[in-house]
Amino acid sequence: MSLFGVKWRDKSGCWASKDYGSWCEHYEAIDLGKKKGQYCPFHAPQGSKGISLTEFNELVFKEIDRCRSERKTLDFTGAIFEGDISFAGYGKGNSFPPVKFDEATFYGVADFEEVFFSGDTSFEKTVFAYKATFTRAVFEGKAYFFDALFNEEVEFNQTEFLSDVYISFGSFKKGAQMEDVAYRGKAMLKRPIVE
Ligand SMILES: [Zn+2]
Repeated sequence: MSLFGVKWRDKSGCWASKDYGSWCEHYEAIDLGKKKGQYCPFHAPQGSKGISLTEFNELVFKEIDRCRSERKTLDFTGAIFEGDISFAGYGKGNSFPPVKFDEATFYGVADFEEVFFSGDTSFEKTVFAYKATFTRAVFEGKAYFFDALFNEEVEFNQTEFLSDVYISFGSFKKGAQMEDVAYRGKAMLKRPIVE
């Protein structure tokens, strides 16, 4: 619905919700003022989440645990991770559910060291603005990294891809450490859309 060119939006909802598949609609939106809009904590811009980094990361972990217990695909499409975050507790025995990080942005260190991804995992068009590590992580399902952008160093040392992995050329702006990576499936390489 539109009135004088202004899109009508649900007062209680996140403005980014529809663009990213409505996965965040159960979260209360933070009102940032008329011009900036209102967003759930996940889609609120960096510095505008209204909660501390620790509180935000706790919310992320709760969402992981909730989706896993409900046996749903975890969806963080378009989410903005504003600072360092470590997923190191999600190793084998406490593994990640299938997950989508498509179009998400990590502004701080994204630490996936020794994480066990139990299903298909998607980082399509994900932006890693800072360092990331997937050292000794295990991807049990397919791992999609098409058009992901790593602006700083990324480590895939001893990472295990038990199924196919999809990566784009040009994803790594500062290079990638890939010592002893195990590819059990196919590695599909794609040229970038923009050089
Ligand atoms: Zn949202």
